Amino acid sequence: MAFLPALSLIPLVQYPGGKLSPLVSVGDSVREGMLVGKGREGRSANIHATVPGRVVRHTSWEDSDGRECEGLLIRMEGSFDRLGSTEENYTPELPPDLMSYQELAEVLNDCGIVEMEGAGSPLAEMLSWFHLAEGSKTLVVRCVFDDPWLVADYVLCKERLKAIVEGSFILAGACGGVGRVLFAVSRKEKEIGKAMLAEAARYGISSSMILTGRRYPQRNHREMEIVLREYEKKTKVDLGTLLILGPSTLAAVHDAVKYRRPILERYVAVGGSAVRKPKVMRVRIGKRIGDVFDECGGFVGNPCRVVTGSPFFGEMVRFLDEPITKTSYALVAMLASQVGKYPMRDCISCGECRKVCPVGLDPEEMYKMIKVSSLDAAQSGEVSDHPGFRECHGCGCCEVVCPSRLPLPEVIRGRISYA
Ligand code: SF4
Ligand code: SF4
Repeated sequence: MAFLPALSLIPLVQYPGGKLSPLVSVGDSVREGMLVGKGREGRSANIHATVPGRVVRHTSWEDSDGRECEGLLIRMEGSFDRLGSTEENYTPELPPDLMSYQELAEVLNDCGIVEMEGAGSPLAEMLSWFHLAEGSKTLVVRCVFDDPWLVADYVLCKERLKAIVEGSFILAGACGGVGRVLFAVSRKEKEIGKAMLAEAARYGISSSMILTGRRYPQRNHREMEIVLREYEKKTKVDLGTLLILGPSTLAAVHDAVKYRRPILERYVAVGGSAVRKPKVMRVRIGKRIGDVFDECGGFVGNPCRVVTGSPFFGEMVRFLDEPITKTSYALVAMLASQVGKYPMRDCISCGECRKVCPVGLDPEEMYKMIKVSSLDAAQSGEVSDHPGFRECHGCGCCEVVCPSRLPLPEVIRGRISYA
């Protein structure tokens, strides 16, 4: 567990989704786990204070994509209600499959549970279509570590395996009609899959394991679905509607249902050539990114690029005062030598990007379409109607091989404009 921060910045804006309504004002005292921001209409999830203390400022900043963010700055004081205490177990009897979908959705909303490996969408909103789906349904537990920066999820799978499995069965039981829980595991981590299956034998829903291939990327929804449909053909098992969730989200479901615990912290992998002592840490949401690096011994030199998430497709960090959020699974600080000393230049039409795109897209073509179109055209759909723009999942393979060092995924996915 990382040191607790003296100051925490609890974000009030989550993407996708709208701004939260703050429930506290400057000067108010807050307790650990107290609701401080109320989600609106399923588009944003509730936010809780992750440390006890006093609200000292309502502040705002701009992230690397130019989006305005808002947050509550909390100075830590007082005692912790949850940290180090034995929490009340709301579902001591197993299996907890008597929980209705409505009860589950209420708990998830109250505890502000989001998809922690993705964009941070409120989980109850994601579950609503799955719950209503007719025919066979499968919950897929994605333990695929095809990117070294997913090591935090790997550590979580090792340390909280029971909670992840129990979280899966709680969710499967409440969603109704889920015939199978499928553990999709990286081939080289088969032992994790076996341990999950052994744990899953305690529950009444059938479960099985599927091993994913070695080629990056394997964990994106599209690639996962291809693997799963192949499995379906081979085994003649009708998987039906799929819900694919990662281990952090399922552990959070477990904690919410069993202990009514909101998301207060998450596992984060901290590394990159600029970091003195890379490690995986449990970090409180709202902790200042600069403080997390300090706890890793600080920097060995001036970082020229800092990102949250994988360097392949993560979000740039503009200020070290920005906070850890519910979706920050990695923090990477790189020296100029790791980023490369070659400047960005025009496309030389070498075609390397086409060779590596796992979706079979033409990144060069799409990049050039955006570059020559105006921002208005790009936003009005003229460009985005090209099917490739919807299919790109931002894996970053094209950027890695591009000798012109063009930021292809960011441009293609509309994060920045060259208009
Ligand atoms: S890899 Fe880069 S330089 Fe080569 S065609 Fe693709 S965008 Fe152009
Ligand atoms: S980021 Fe590049 S390689 Fe990955 S899917 Fe998009 S276009 Fe293809």
